[in-house]
Amino acid sequence: MKISGQLRKMTHEAGTPIRYFLSLDEKPVPITAQVGNEISLRFLGTITCVECGRKIKKTYNQGYCFPCARDLPENAMCSVRPELC
Ligand SMILES: [Zn+2]
Repeated sequence: MKISGQLRKMTHEAGTPIRYFLSLDEKPVPITAQVGNEISLRFLGTITCVECGRKIKKTYNQGYCFPCARDLPENAMCSVRPELC
């Protein structure tokens, strides 16, 4: 299976067993069945902001462009208390 999209932090669903998902273009891709198997990830050369989608050269606060990292209310505490972000 070959899939692509904007990669975000993995998500999970509680339960027994816990279920893990890769997040590609904000769609959850079940990955629990791959635990113990080999997978490969390939960077296609494009980085985009997780908020506004613009192409950027580097990210701030784990995925934002500089203006979104600076201006969004949810990022307000990131420079003072980065452990919250
Ligand atoms: Zn942005």
